[in-house]
Amino acid sequence: MRSHLLNDLTAEHYRRSVTEGVERVAAHLAATERPFTGVTPDALAPRIDGIDLDRPLHDTAAVLDELEEVYLRDAVRFHHPRYVAHLNCPVVIPAVLGEAVLSAVNSSLDTWDQSAGATLVERRLVDWTASRIGLGPDADGVFTSGGTQSNLQALLLAREEAKPGQAGRTGADSLAGLRILVSEAGHFSVRKAAKLLGLGPESVVSLPVDRDRRMRTVALAHELERCRREGLFPMAVVATAGTTDFGSIDPLPEIAELCERYGVWLHVDAAYGCGLLVSPTRRHLLAGIERADSVTVDYHKSFFQPVSSSALLVRDASTLRHATYHADYLNPRRAVSERIPNQVDKSLQTTRRFDALKLWTTLRVMGADGIGRLFDEVCDLAAEGWRMLTADPRFDVVVEPALSTLVFRHVPAAPTDPAETDRANLYAREALFASGAAVVAGTRVGGRHHLKFTLLNPETTAADLAAVLDLIAGHAEQYLGESLDRAS
Ligand SMILES: *Cc1c(COP(=O)(O)O)cnc(C)c1O
Repeated sequence: MRSHLLNDLTAEHYRRSVTEGVERVAAHLAATERPFTGVTPDALAPRIDGIDLDRPLHDTAAVLDELEEVYLRDAVRFHHPRYVAHLNCPVVIPAVLGEAVLSAVNSSLDTWDQSAGATLVERRLVDWTASRIGLGPDADGVFTSGGTQSNLQALLLAREEAKPGQAGRTGADSLAGLRILVSEAGHFSVRKAAKLLGLGPESVVSLPVDRDRRMRTVALAHELERCRREGLFPMAVVATAGTTDFGSIDPLPEIAELCERYGVWLHVDAAYGCGLLVSPTRRHLLAGIERADSVTVDYHKSFFQPVSSSALLVRDASTLRHATYHADYLNPRRAVSERIPNQVDKSLQTTRRFDALKLWTTLRVMGADGIGRLFDEVCDLAAEGWRMLTADPRFDVVVEPALSTLVFRHVPAAPTDPAETDRANLYAREALFASGAAVVAGTRVGGRHHLKFTLLNPETTAADLAAVLDLIAGHAEQYLGESLDRAS
């Protein structure tokens, strides 16, 4: 059994075992014809439930064979050009290499004495990202598990910065008047964060968006004024730089202006749009982000990194103290005066992966422009898809994309009840998923079911989009035809 421990005596076993796994995955890459097999939970569950976890196989090859059955064969393939559903990117090889290294070495980024160089690598990447954003000399930040956690931590800092002495409030009462202003197209993690921070549902004020799904700054100004009148305290404005559905970017300069005027913390959720930080042609779309107090970036979305890789950046390093606690067994207070860099002082997590390494290997192999060009390609493709959709009478498309999503809906040739059109679109999405020929996402716009392409694969072509649109139209028309038959 000891031969399974990774150490000097087992280096050869390690090499063989991991190589076997890599070979399996490589074989799958070569053999992938569709993004999905269409397997159902009911078909897959018995295979997984049927395995006796108390009877190990003791053999890597046998385990990998079994893994074929329970996972590898049916996994959804984000690298397939016709996977165009959610914010999942195909990953770049230098990052996968980093992933292999970081899990084998297994540093933990909480304290220097568990991570040494890793801590400094992470700090360099935090500084690099902050300087790409333009946050200034006092910026800092920390890697997180994802945008959800980054948003939670940003709002924790904002809440703590807002609380002291505000209108003489103390204790739980001081939370009651706090407000977070975010557009209706913002991410749902803002609501979850508010709940975790002890704020009631009324604390999140949902602001209307314009035709392009950008926050209406007039509404924001109005709301800030209303809060002032009513003695409420806006603790943060969350601007979204790349909404999950539309990729729309809230008007950052105007929002920053208002935040400054009212003294409100500006958090920019750039979980999706952060790829623009390295775009050779579109960086200007993020103008104004440099005025944020905090920024969420998800490298595992638009930097082509494996899950998970995300960070929270802040303009003022000292605000991170709101997440600082000292424990004698881990990061005693004296470590601060001894200038020992313990990242746990800045993090909501304790034991934490060295996810930063993946970004490091990526930048060292490909360079920032290399990543940015990939993101540019998918934005170009979305623009092309927009032209196709606007010219295609079978579809209505909602907004011209700023980034790489397209939200649209199949519309029948003959006018039909909109609820029937809803059902046809839902059916088309499900039928497509079951066929495995392509995977698209769905969402609702104005209460109506729509379909969504999230384009993050530079290998996807306009011809792929045209083919997927034909498949969708085929399924929708089949549904409508059958429903006519049912009616007659
Ligand atoms: C994806 C996303 C998040 C959440 O990020 P996770 O990494 O999935 O936790 C937050 N905000 C926006 C705008 C997103 O698109």
